[in-house]
Amino acid sequence: MIDHEHIWHPYSAMNSELPVYEVESANGVHITLKDGRELIDGMSSWWCMIHGYNHPKMNAAIEQQLKKMSHVMFGGLTHQPAIELTKQLLEITPAALQKIFYSDSGSVAVEVAMKMAIQYWHAKGQPEKQRFISLRSAYHGDTFAAMSVSDPDTGMHKLFKDAVAQQIFIKQPISRFNEACHKQDIDELEKTLKKHANEAAALILEPIVQGAGGMWFYSADYLKHAKRVCEKYNILLILDEIATGFGRTGKLFACEHADIAPDIMCIGKALTGGYLSLAATLTTNEVSNTIDHGDPGVFMHGPTFMANPLACTAALTSTKLLLASNWKENIKKIESQLKVGLEICNNFETVNEVRVLGAIGVVEMKQPVDMKSITEAFVNAGVWVRPFGKLVYLMPTFIVSQEELNKLITAVVNTLKQHIK
Ligand SMILES: *Cc1c(COP(=O)(O)O)cnc(C)c1O
Repeated sequence: MIDHEHIWHPYSAMNSELPVYEVESANGVHITLKDGRELIDGMSSWWCMIHGYNHPKMNAAIEQQLKKMSHVMFGGLTHQPAIELTKQLLEITPAALQKIFYSDSGSVAVEVAMKMAIQYWHAKGQPEKQRFISLRSAYHGDTFAAMSVSDPDTGMHKLFKDAVAQQIFIKQPISRFNEACHKQDIDELEKTLKKHANEAAALILEPIVQGAGGMWFYSADYLKHAKRVCEKYNILLILDEIATGFGRTGKLFACEHADIAPDIMCIGKALTGGYLSLAATLTTNEVSNTIDHGDPGVFMHGPTFMANPLACTAALTSTKLLLASNWKENIKKIESQLKVGLEICNNFETVNEVRVLGAIGVVEMKQPVDMKSITEAFVNAGVWVRPFGKLVYLMPTFIVSQEELNKLITAVVNTLKQHIK
């Protein structure tokens, strides 16, 4: 009752009729509801929980840090969890990225990236370069600057039209993953970046996978062209790896599919293995040195919970666990099982298309699904799957067994078969 009367949930109405299930505990790939039912998690709690819930090594590392300190301000102070995490991230992210700014959520990491880009051009004596170029169907978060570079239609531009900055949007690339880049996509990039070279601070992209804006997988070759065209017209490239980072697409970071490095990169979500909220914005020496030499000579951001020690410990432990696992092989196996298992959905009249990449399996419907009935059907089938709009998808934890994944796939197939609307 308290929940229904007083607590907002993501993108929801207070008077919503949609069910909200109370969770008692979670362990491995299982979420246990208050009523005792056990659900296999197909969402990794919004793509974060890559090693599963209640992981003994994660728990132990966090408990140990808790006894030293849960938090300390980062202004004028530093600590081992931040230092060790930084060493680790420098090893696994593109070599050009040498400076790291920690923040508390993905949206804030995107805000920070955008401020870096603006401060960079300001320091270069080109303060007019303040606008951003983004893609249709992009999603970069819910705060104001992040919202401004998210898709104007599926994002919230209508509602907040006069409150968000007007950015520049390129058509969503039609070139699919594993295809060469179509000429029209290249032309669109060239044309837009050339036209806005004098006012654009950066091009911001989700590399390879457009996530919450439509679960679209595009050509690695497109990313290569994006990098090239950015260099040609003196526009920074920001890659938002918040959804794609830490193995989800089959590479540690999705930019590796194209073998490119951005000027600024955002990471979040799976960074802490889903344990705590932490994000980071990484950049090059060129960007940070330029900001240092400009006016006011400091980078103007500093969150209260910057580099929180517990969160940094979770991130370090999660990353080490990932690197020590057979993640590449696991994700290949998950990918082929998703491909084989979801394929049959292509035969359903209500389905537009099935797409699979890495540990992401997407069934795009022709019409938006009915959330109430489909959610209940999934819970009754013993799985936790949360579609949005026309997209029913699976993003399992990396520790999911073949049998558990089979249960998830079967639940999706059977539910969509029965679920006419
Ligand atoms: C989830 C997400 C964000 C926002 O992260 P939050 O932690 O929810 O603020 C930004 N960009 C991408 C690509 C995301 O998937």
